[in-house]
Amino acid sequence: MHLYSTRNKSGFVSLREAVLKGLPDDNGLYMPESIPQLPDSFFSSLRKMSFVEIGYAVSKALFQEEIPDSNLIDIVSKALTFPAPLVKLADHTFILELFHGPSLAFKDFGARFMAQLMSYFNREEDRELTILVATSGDTGGAVAAGFHNTPGINIVILYPSGKVSELQEKQLTTLGGNVRALEIQGTFDDCQALVKQAFLDKELNQRLRLSSANSINIARLVPQSFYYFEAWKQLPEGTQPVFVVPSGNFGNLTAGILAHKMGLPVQKFVAATNANDVVPKYVKTGKFNPRPSVQTISNAMDVGNPSNFERLQDIFGFTWNRFVEKISSCSLDDDQTRAEIIKCYKDYNYILDPHGAVGFGAWKAHLASHPNSTGVILETAHPSKFIDEVESNLGIKVKVPERLARLRERPKDSVKMLPEYDKLKSYLVSNF
Ligand SMILES: *Cc1c(COP(=O)(O)O)cnc(C)c1O
Repeated sequence: MHLYSTRNKSGFVSLREAVLKGLPDDNGLYMPESIPQLPDSFFSSLRKMSFVEIGYAVSKALFQEEIPDSNLIDIVSKALTFPAPLVKLADHTFILELFHGPSLAFKDFGARFMAQLMSYFNREEDRELTILVATSGDTGGAVAAGFHNTPGINIVILYPSGKVSELQEKQLTTLGGNVRALEIQGTFDDCQALVKQAFLDKELNQRLRLSSANSINIARLVPQSFYYFEAWKQLPEGTQPVFVVPSGNFGNLTAGILAHKMGLPVQKFVAATNANDVVPKYVKTGKFNPRPSVQTISNAMDVGNPSNFERLQDIFGFTWNRFVEKISSCSLDDDQTRAEIIKCYKDYNYILDPHGAVGFGAWKAHLASHPNSTGVILETAHPSKFIDEVESNLGIKVKVPERLARLRERPKDSVKMLPEYDKLKSYLVSNF
């Protein structure tokens, strides 16, 4: 597999380089040189295939010979250890539950797959790979769980002390083994600045093999395309669905477009956003004006300058007409989001989290003008991750899944640290 940067289409790198490096030097994003079309035989047997078989077929078509079959099967089967079930709410409305992984959000798919790929690409190195992650809460949990016990890889998570929820902190600090948590006495921006400085430190990079688990790594994008096929397989035969994707950085949506480019029949994608509506505005006006994010109750989508927008632009040849042919868009404010949580529970007895509720509202708006379509709403997080918001709107108790509830009992293990680079550096040098 060869990949180019969205900023330079003449230089190519291997999958290995793109995965270990994360970002090209020119600050663009890696894109596959070509997106293969899957054969008819794949689609005719899709309904009989397991999730792992689908993941293998899709990644094999993309990666081609770069990873031997037996290794690729191993990578996919270690990554896809939980299902993506489709739940029917009404005749034309389905929910794709993407929250059955360890951190209860769809980011588990990307994090686990990336962990397996990195471990594979690092297996012949004599030095371990140390991955630095700055997190404001959610991404860190998925990365910690995804990389836990991955051979040859150490994970160091930097999080702002007192600024993540109790449960998020437990996800970062209770795994042990190859996952270490640094509790920085500062802000998320401090954490990010420290990580950045470490990557720029030549001396440190000679002593340690450092890498990042960046959200725009191609290794996170590819597995997110698997569950679009998995969803399609569970729909009534012959359906050409509308996928409704609650979006922030637009990685999930980009993965859906990738699946479509590989041949998956999709009528339309609906990009659902909260008040951070730069993409809905682009769809409406053709003008893309990134701006600082605003805080909402669907906070994993509080993004004012979506990083994958550049990938989408690249796919659609930087042409607005082609973009809006495939993607429509809708934004909901917090009051509308709360109203959708309540409505969905009342009408269908189904509990949505705030991100899924944004998708649900966007779907209803789409259905009103396209009454014959069938929608699949991606539910990106389990409602118990946003338990206060959900319980206060519904007036009921939301059950916390056993695997999360168990974390509460486990002791926190973190290293407190001032936001000073020499402290981080000496920690890294003496521990790895
Ligand atoms: C990250 C996240 C999103 C946004 O996904 P993007 O790929 O960044 O668009 C939506 N919902 C939840 C729960 C998330 O964690």
